[in-house]
Amino acid sequence: MTRTPPQNPDCRGGKHAACSGTAWNDDIDDICACGCPCHT
Ligand SMILES: [Zn+2]
Ligand SMILES: [Zn+2]
Repeated sequence: MTRTPPQNPDCRGGKHAACSGTAWNDDIDDICACGCPCHT
């Protein structure tokens, strides 16, 4: 099973500066860290 890190909708929309650094993880139904590479 391939797991892609969840990303904040802001990051998905290209608005990386607006991202709060969190994203919704469907696997655990909870908040987790945004997986967008812009945070590293
Ligand atoms: Zn981003
Ligand atoms: Zn982000």
